[in-house]
Amino acid sequence: MAGSPFRSALAQFEKALQYVEIDAGIVEQLKKPARLAEVNIPVAMDDGSMKVFLGYRVQYNDARGPFKGGIRYHPQVHLDEVKALAFWMTIKCAVVGIPFGGGKGGVKVDPRRLSAGELERLSRGWVQKMFPIIGPDVDVPAPDMYTNSTVMGWMVDEYSKLAGKHTPAAFTGKPIEVGGLDGREDSTAQGGVFVIKELVKKLKLTPSKIRIAVQGFGNVGYYTAKLLHDAGYKIVAISDSRGGIVSVNGKDMDPAVVMKTKKEKGLIDGCYCVGTVCDCENYKTITNKQLLEMPCDILIPAAMENQITNVNAGRIKAKIIVEMANGPTAPDADTKLFKRGITVVPDILANAGGVSGSYFEWVQNREGSRWKNHDVIAKLEPLMRESFDTVWATARKHEVDLRTAAYIIAIKRISEAMKTREKIYK
Ligand code: NAD
Repeated sequence: MAGSPFRSALAQFEKALQYVEIDAGIVEQLKKPARLAEVNIPVAMDDGSMKVFLGYRVQYNDARGPFKGGIRYHPQVHLDEVKALAFWMTIKCAVVGIPFGGGKGGVKVDPRRLSAGELERLSRGWVQKMFPIIGPDVDVPAPDMYTNSTVMGWMVDEYSKLAGKHTPAAFTGKPIEVGGLDGREDSTAQGGVFVIKELVKKLKLTPSKIRIAVQGFGNVGYYTAKLLHDAGYKIVAISDSRGGIVSVNGKDMDPAVVMKTKKEKGLIDGCYCVGTVCDCENYKTITNKQLLEMPCDILIPAAMENQITNVNAGRIKAKIIVEMANGPTAPDADTKLFKRGITVVPDILANAGGVSGSYFEWVQNREGSRWKNHDVIAKLEPLMRESFDTVWATARKHEVDLRTAAYIIAIKRISEAMKTREKIYK
């Protein structure tokens, strides 16, 4: 399959294998998901008709803990993509050392074309079909692209009804009122920002001089841009699926104002205006393709897979790429970027704050407690900084890129768990 995310994931895995000694049997198992579930979800539409939507859950590996991973609603969701995302979750949880395996789910749908009622019936339908194979000790889903805390609220409610008991730990990323974590909404971004700060320290850079371009303005892109802006970094371009805006004179933009504008006008490109204050002099429109190739110091892809490929890798001008999206860089592009001296902080590290926040939520639900936002930050910050430092040191030791280093660490941890469990159960 051209541009197959799963093939990309396996290529990254194989590249790291030369630096670790693990059993051939374990390698063989890690190349395939443990279980693939494909379901048809009937949904009663508002106009009285019935539509059937295709849903997926891929459970990749649970050697280190229950399967864990988000559910994506997108018209282009396909099994190959869900497999890749489930594989990356397995690796990601091991990179940051949280006790989860990897899984991922999806529904092939454009949620923007559904009413709230249709979306709720679809979300509850996904749970009804997957109920036998998910649960707090088995597989714990969370939000991903075009799903959010509202969707998780419907899902956990449906799960609890089917289970006949209150089961908040069955899903993470829930609304706070039903056991969600104070801080889960921006934990992916928070984690990425801790990693960026650590990298900036290592490279002895000055935050106020760092120009940042962000592709994607959803949960991850928005909060990452906002937190970096608030920390004194310069946000010079932002985009969503329809295009974006770029600063013409290097002027910093405020992501909170851009979000307000987007909510009021429905678009972020075209103008950067709020109320009566218009600033179209300092900003102009930009396409997503132009944003990736524009001059900046840090490029942050925070939308889809396969954005940086062999075709545009040679034209990237950023010195650092921080992958807040999953799988934005194709393997051949990765090699090109490394040769060009561009530092790529891989998704399996950069966006691991999300699943770490989910882990804290799961722990909170299981102990029946409520954590405060400062408790979450106090746990997330050292976790992300230490994970970054370990990956950095491994990269230096083996003279490899940060992605390969992260894989080396994860493969060792997963393999140890698989070997230990085999010993126990033999
Ligand atoms: P989201 O649905 O909140 O936002 C997605 C954003 O991407 C929107 O602004 C959308 O307009 C934009 N977009 C979509 N297609 C685009 C394109 N072709 N070009 C440019 N922009 C485009 O999704 P999210 O939760 O922010 O997830 C974004 C990425 O981060 C995904 O790759 C997801 O897997 C990854 N991720 C999310 C989390 C999380 O906690 N939400 C955690 C880890 C990784």
